[in-house]
This record gives sequence, structure tokens and C-alpha cells, in this order.
Amino acid sequence: MSRPGDDDWIPEQLKDDVEEVLIPASRIGARLDELAVEVDRDYADRNGDLLLVGVLRGAIFTLSDLARRLTLPCAIDFMACSSYGSGTTSSGVVRILKDLDTDIEGRDVLLVEDIVDTGLTLDYLIKNLRSRKPASVEVLALLTKPSRREVDLPVRYVGFEVPDVFVVGYGLDYAERYRGIPHIVSLRPGTGV
Ligand code: 5GP
Repeated sequence: MSRPGDDDWIPEQLKDDVEEVLIPASRIGARLDELAVEVDRDYADRNGDLLLVGVLRGAIFTLSDLARRLTLPCAIDFMACSSYGSGTTSSGVVRILKDLDTDIEGRDVLLVEDIVDTGLTLDYLIKNLRSRKPASVEVLALLTKPSRREVDLPVRYVGFEVPDVFVVGYGLDYAERYRGIPHIVSLRPGTGV
């Protein structure tokens, strides 16, 4: 029987909804180890003013697990924008629901996203942040679905490429469910997706 911490462990009540574990927790952790080394190296010569901006809510686990791996000091802030509601297709209309509390003028900003799908959300966010005159804006996305991209985006750090399936877990939801699953998983047809 699997236990919390195992790569095949799914909370009992959600087990029947899960089709497949696509990226187990241990692989996510190992990839974040690598990405943290890259971020540490890339920002080592800056002025020590790195700001991690998490896009709520899907990116919270990625942001917190990344921040705990960085050796450089960094500050943390969050933004929230409207995305899919409880559906699974992008509307293309982005609205900021929660803005930063931090003035980013002159700062190095690393935007942390859960998944880049069409890229419309990120495209809007990058343009919005750039208008505030930061020293730099880069993007770290845990997941990307390249086959779905509608706009060309400069995503500097990518965790994993995933196929065109709706994924949940490790912060990602479907109608606010499944965020706590520690892996990236696909859902069984019939779960509403
Ligand atoms: P985009 O604007 O790139 O099309 O969509 C980005 C947002 O859509 C992501 O931040 C995420 O909230 C949501 N999204 C896109 N694909 C998926 C997916 O496969 N699963 C989940 N849970 N959310 C997704």
C-alpha cells in the first residue's frame, strides 16, 4: 500500500478520479532542484533584489518549493487574474483580480506560473509588468503545452512539457478540486473535464 510521500500515492477520496500520474512528486522536486541552480546562477551578479511573483492560485506550490531551494535572497509577491473559471478552455480575456503589493520599478522580477497553455494569460501579464519599468521580467513555468500556443512567449525556465491533456495536481485544479495531489496527473473521462 502506498503512503504519503510515495510517487504513486493519491488521497483515497480522489483516487477514482485520477487516470494517470504523468509527473510524480519526486520528478517535480528533482526538476526544481535543477531550475533553482539555474536561477541562482543567472541572478548571482544582480543587485540581490529578486522578486518572485506567483500567479495565484495554481503556482503556489511551484513558487514555495522553488523559493526554498534558492540560495539567493528573494522577496515574494502574488498576482491573481481571471482564467478559466470552472471550464477548461481559455477565454483569452484576462483581468487582474489581485495586483502586486510591491513596487517593481528597478527590480528583477521572476514570474512563476503553473502552466502555459495558449500563452494569452502570460502575454498579458508580461506586458502589464513591463509597463511598470522593472529592471527585468523573466518567466518560470512548471509546465508548458507547446502544441496549444497561440502567442510566442519568452519562457526562460520550463519544468516539463506536457501533451494536450487537462492536468491537475501540485497546485493545479479543476473547479477548485485536486490542487493538493502532490503529482501532476490526468483525470479520468467522466470526472467533468
Ligand atoms: P493560457 O492563458 O496560457 O491559455 O492559460 C493559462 C492558465 O490556464 C494557467 O495558468 C492555468 O490556470 C490554466 N490552465 C491551462 N491548462 C491547464 C491544465 O491543463 N490544467 C489546469 N488545471 N489548468 C490549466
